[in-house]
Amino acid sequence: MRLLAIFFLFVNFLYAFEVKNGKSLIFELQNIDKNAKITFLNKTHKPIKHPKKEGYYLVIIPIDYKTEAKEYSLEYTYQNKKVTQAVHVKKENYPKEQLSVEPSKVKPPKKYLDRIHKEYEEAKKIYATSTDKLYFNSPFIVGIKTQITSEFGSARVYNDVLKSYHGGVDFRAKEGTKIVAINHGKVVIASERYYAGGSVVIDHGFGIYSSYFHLSKVKVKKGDLVEQNQVIALSGKSGRVTGPHLHLGIKVSSVNVDPLDFINQINALLALN
Ligand SMILES: [Zn+2]
Repeated sequence: MRLLAIFFLFVNFLYAFEVKNGKSLIFELQNIDKNAKITFLNKTHKPIKHPKKEGYYLVIIPIDYKTEAKEYSLEYTYQNKKVTQAVHVKKENYPKEQLSVEPSKVKPPKKYLDRIHKEYEEAKKIYATSTDKLYFNSPFIVGIKTQITSEFGSARVYNDVLKSYHGGVDFRAKEGTKIVAINHGKVVIASERYYAGGSVVIDHGFGIYSSYFHLSKVKVKKGDLVEQNQVIALSGKSGRVTGPHLHLGIKVSSVNVDPLDFINQINALLALN
């Protein structure tokens, strides 16, 4: 029986995975243990015990937006065995956006540089932390059903200067719209920040974080445990914005991924009867 299972594992790995930059590679594995190691582009990823399917593990590999389109190798080590799997990264055709914002939010005044640096370092440290506990066991919700005003991945040209790409998805939301947690987790940031404005970041475990920016009122505190669909804030237009909206982001192992793609993929593996 065990031999047969291992045989199937190899069969599964015979074809190349295909994934686009900015998206996530999410799949499940059987017959491994929590000490198995999955390595991709010099980063090691821990398998996550499937919360609903006995004997299964989830593997989530974020593909950075800036990953060059070509074939890579994913290495998978368990019980002294090593399996390699080809991963073909393709280029997504993301749009370009021209935005005009207050000049001070593009090139911030000197007096804010310390604050910006501090906020950046604080967030970086949090996102790099992988909590060894999965806070959720059911599918994610998007929580807001309004029109998307800016998709994940748009190249951002602020006042004619190419600054970055859009690391989340923006939903139209008039000021004061109730914002809910997309899944269970622990609040790790609940504060007012220079670029993101009123911000909430939730740790969902195993390096998965959701973020909610430009809020007018934050209704949770750092350290709070929140439930899926719990109101955590009211939307607003704080920080670097062109108007009121909700910016929703998901990071996995410090990498921004397309939130809606992540939710669709992980939900397909979590939605079991
Ligand atoms: Zn945004």
